Amino acid sequence: MVEDVLGESRVEGVKIRDIKTGELSIITCDGLFVAIGHQPNTKIFERQIALDEKGYIISQGTKTSVNGVFVAGDVRDYRYRQAVTAAGEGCKAAMDAIAYLEEQKEVTVSAQETNLA
Ligand SMILES: Cc1cc2nc3c(=O)[nH]c(=O)nc-3n(C[C@H](O)[C@H](O)[C@H](O)COP(=O)(O)OP(=O)(O)OC[C@H]3O[C@@H](n4cnc5c(N)ncnc54)[C@H](O)[C@@H]3O)c2cc1C
Repeated sequence: MVEDVLGESRVEGVKIRDIKTGELSIITCDGLFVAIGHQPNTKIFERQIALDEKGYIISQGTKTSVNGVFVAGDVRDYRYRQAVTAAGEGCKAAMDAIAYLEEQKEVTVSAQETNLA
């Protein structure tokens, strides 16, 4: 486990702790990539939107199990998980949300017209 990043103005090393023995040691290095794991952050959607056994949001395109709720990016994508694919999906989800809202508006307007007639 990384305990500290060493260096004044740039990375010069990391102090690490062996999580079994507690022993501290130093690795000299020029950079550090933070790996955050692959657990999708979807717990708040449990029992609201259908998730698969690993916690990814189940989707068909950008559609979720809930009508009018759309999804994009790493929370639904266990295959590519890239910035560019997430951004593209974000655009698709936004356009699908707009289309959904337009449809709702038309349904409401035509219902109002029916009531007026
Ligand atoms: C170390 C690392 C290196 C990577 N390198 C590359 C690379 O070189 N090229 C590449 O294409 N991809 C790379 N990726 C993957 C890329 O970062 C992701 O695929 C992309 O960021 C996914 O975008 P996203 O919008 O789906 O999710 P995220 O970028 O994770 O955005 C989700 C957002 O939701 C917010 N959030 C979470 N919970 C809540 C909540 N309860 N309420 C409100 N907001 C919340 C988060 O703070 C976050 O801002 C890398 C990822 C990592 C971790």
